[in-house]
Parts: sequence; structure tokens; C-alpha cells
Amino acid sequence: MASPTPTIWFTGLSGAGKTTTAAALVAELLGDQIPAIHLDGDDLRRGLSADLGFSFQDRAEAVRRAGAVALMVAQQGFVAVVSMISPQHDARQAVRTLHEAAGVPFVEVYVATPLEVCESRDPKKLYQLARQGSSHNMTGVNDPYDVPSQPELVISTDGSSVPDLVRLVRSISNL
Ligand code: ADP
Repeated sequence: MASPTPTIWFTGLSGAGKTTTAAALVAELLGDQIPAIHLDGDDLRRGLSADLGFSFQDRAEAVRRAGAVALMVAQQGFVAVVSMISPQHDARQAVRTLHEAAGVPFVEVYVATPLEVCESRDPKKLYQLARQGSSHNMTGVNDPYDVPSQPELVISTDGSSVPDLVRLVRSISNL
């Protein structure tokens, strides 16, 4: 019997390269005829989680919702690829537990690109706003990020090409 389809969960700071790597992964999988769906945190916040802000509770709820959708997707045979800051250890752990209870593999990929690099990229100018004091919920600046304690994989997009990183993620995920 084929092994169960996994959820692959990219977590890390804003600007770490989660969306880029996740999108490239999904594109590769689809190119190889492996059904996959990308659930990106920013997209989810425009729709499913548009009612949520950036408080501790709302961030946890956003992760819970993404995790529940990912599980449904994976259970239907589509690789669920999630890219979300998901800064709280407990919220990520709850999603992992949900998957484990359902027998669905959960592959946590910590995108550990250093804060200085993320901040120098600052594609959305969010770090700049936070440093100017205009944003009070910026993960890594004035809001906490719990470094994953036992991720399946740690990558950094600082100095590694997207295709190389996709290869690593596929290898650890048996895809
Ligand atoms: P996140 O989703 O974690 O906020 P993004 O995927 O939007 O981050 O990437 C942030 C920036 O980093 C973008 O400008 C992107 O082009 C760049 N980036 C992502 N991956 C790499 C990589 N492997 N090498 C170089 N730059 C990258």
C-alpha cells in the first residue's frame, strides 16, 4: 500500500523564504504528477482567517485552522504544503498531534534564515515599520518566535538555491 500523503509545514520568520520554497516545492511535485496544494499564511489571512489579527490567541487560531485544512487535504491524497510564520511552539505541536492521531505524516521544516538576512530583504517593509515603532506584532522584533525544538528539517535560504532546498525537503518527506 502507498504510504500516507504528508503535510509539509514551513515555519520561520517573515522574509525567511517559506513562501518561495513552498511554492517551488508544489510546482515541482505537480510537474512530477504528484498532487499537491499550497496553503500560504498570507493567502489564508485574506480569506479563511480574515477575521483574525496578530494577538497571541489569533495567531494560535490561524495555525489551528491551517492545520485542520492541511489535514483534510492530505487525507484526500494531496500533499499539503503550508507556509506560515506560525511562531508558537504549542500551536504547531497541536497541529502535529492532530496529524499523528490521524496517521498522517507531519514534516516540520524550520526555515532558519537569520533575522539579519530576513530584515535586509524586508520585501514587505514590515521590519522597517517595526523598527520605526509603527508595528508592535512583528515576529522576531517585538513579538516572540519559538524556535522549533525537533523539526524534521532545518534549512536556510541564505546561500542555498531554491532547487537545492526543494530537493532536501522532498528527500526528507520521501516524495
Ligand atoms: P517568507 O514567505 O518566509 O516571508 P519569501 O518566500 O516571501 O519569505 O521570501 C522573502 C525573500 O527572500 C524574497 O525576496 C525571496 O525572493 C527571497 N528568497 C527566498 N528564497 C531564497 C533563496 N533560496 N535564495 C535567495 N533568496 C531567496
